[in-house]
Amino acid sequence: MNNLTKEEEAGLAVLENLTSNVKQIQDEVLKEILTCDANTEYLRSFLHGSSDKDLFKKNVPIGTYEDFKPYIERVANGESSEIISGRPITGFALTSGTSGGKQKLIPLNNKYVENARFLSDIRYLVLSKHIEGHNKGKGLHLLFLKPASKTPSGLPASYATTHLMKSDYFVKNPPSYWDTSSTSPSEIKFCHDTKQSLYCHLLCGLVMRDEVTRVSSGFASVLVQGITFLEKFWKEMCSNIRSGQLSDWITNLSCRDSVSKVLGGPNPQLAVTIEDICNQKSWKCIIPQLWPRTKFIECIFTGQMAQHIPLLEFYGNDLPLVSRNYVSSEAFFGVNLNPLCKPQDVSYTFMPNMSYFEFIPVGEGDDTIVDLVNVKLGRYYELIVTNYAGLHRYRVGDILQVTGFYNSAPQFRFIRRQNVVLSVYLEATTEEDLLNAVTNATQLLKSSDIMLRDFTCYPHISTVPGHYVLYWELKGNKNDDIIELIETNVMVECCSVIEESLDALYRKFRSKDGSIGALEIRVVQRGTFDSLMEYFTAQGACLGQYKTPRCIKSSEALEVLENRVMACFFSDKLPHVDTTLC
Ligand code: AMP
Repeated sequence: MNNLTKEEEAGLAVLENLTSNVKQIQDEVLKEILTCDANTEYLRSFLHGSSDKDLFKKNVPIGTYEDFKPYIERVANGESSEIISGRPITGFALTSGTSGGKQKLIPLNNKYVENARFLSDIRYLVLSKHIEGHNKGKGLHLLFLKPASKTPSGLPASYATTHLMKSDYFVKNPPSYWDTSSTSPSEIKFCHDTKQSLYCHLLCGLVMRDEVTRVSSGFASVLVQGITFLEKFWKEMCSNIRSGQLSDWITNLSCRDSVSKVLGGPNPQLAVTIEDICNQKSWKCIIPQLWPRTKFIECIFTGQMAQHIPLLEFYGNDLPLVSRNYVSSEAFFGVNLNPLCKPQDVSYTFMPNMSYFEFIPVGEGDDTIVDLVNVKLGRYYELIVTNYAGLHRYRVGDILQVTGFYNSAPQFRFIRRQNVVLSVYLEATTEEDLLNAVTNATQLLKSSDIMLRDFTCYPHISTVPGHYVLYWELKGNKNDDIIELIETNVMVECCSVIEESLDALYRKFRSKDGSIGALEIRVVQRGTFDSLMEYFTAQGACLGQYKTPRCIKSSEALEVLENRVMACFFSDKLPHVDTTLC
């Protein structure tokens, strides 16, 4: 353990206390929420003013967003917060709408902001404990804040991160470790044009390359996106550094002013150094080469982000990959207390003071809902949250597995989102099934020196039998001429490996009944997934929260992919069938 300051020691003692008294703290949290919300229209209909835990469990139904939506919309349209929440609602978070389907409006209040600050402080302490000097130097953090819109009642609606950064609480009490420690002036984070913002983030990071000690983003996809963008724009950035003049297409005036200050003046020597590094054929190890003092890479790479791990390892070489906290617009859940563990082993320790948590067992035949303290090691659960802003027994939509305990606080591995499934007949392929299958197939690409940059899929059901179509964007390790690198037999084998890795029902319908057709991989041009992201961000998704949808449902998004298909491959054999299913 590293040398810690007195305040850091005290902070870690708070963590010990929290994780040692989970039951008591969870009961107190529920009591506080129920007492505060007892007279809301929503709870009164179930509890008649009581704040009793047993009655809560007996009478209050488990709900989805659709159950709360009418109340939320009434508040957004001007009715008092009190119809749903005892605490005043101060704004709404827009969910990304790219992971779980449709964009939602989630009520927020001051407690949300306090909780965010608490979790961020804990994360900082954990990093202090494990990574010597993690707070020295500057962070190159790709952060994008979208402007807030107003609901008819005048309340701000924005992405949760924007809400946090603009809240009075954060503005008045900025964590000491923020802003001054970033290579990007705030104007870049608040720039509404994602492309200009990304360019400026990276350019400032390059100018201050000797000070950068960490490279980070919210989700892994954003970091991968950032490096891909750099591959396209490094020459232009170097020319800006050489001349000391920012490109004309950066038209946002606040960005121009602040980035021009960072550029300082002409710096031909730095431009040559960066050009030498970027000019290499392979970008393996590019992060530590461009930012030689980097101690770690930080972003969320669990759940559906896990597919980006190989590319992050490729760019980062031996740098530790640290997965950030497990959070959502609805509530904050857990902290990664073991930041230096292997990427595949990341678990999140739930903080019992954040909200009240319950769990529905998955796949056990017993669906008795259990409290946080009663989850069992190894079991899978769907997460239910009761938060401080009016969501009671709300299905978050995430499936988690218990991997251990820190004191008495359970630790969970993020498995998948609940509803993301692919189906062309009667089978139900989950996001996790798909990720596992694709991971197995990508092992075959190694021999051709190719990596999977990103993928998504589409259930092709306009012909009978229907079949799975996977769109793959590939990246050559040394050479980017993918068409030259791909070998038909390898790609066909990838299709077969995916089918072989899917579940027993899929294999039966495919091989025995013929109800599912041969799986297809469509290789798309380089940059396709950037275009897909641009499509979704133009529809209102925020880049910072953007997650490539694992399954494409809209015809416009599908068109973005279809217009860029370069080659198609089909599985040429039938997967094996389990004899028990014959
Ligand atoms: P949003 O509210 O739009 O930011 O999305 C929140 C969702 O992102 C969560 O419910 C999870 O599905 C996903 N998510 C957030 N943090 C993590 C994490 N650390 N690992 C995996 N998925 C995460």
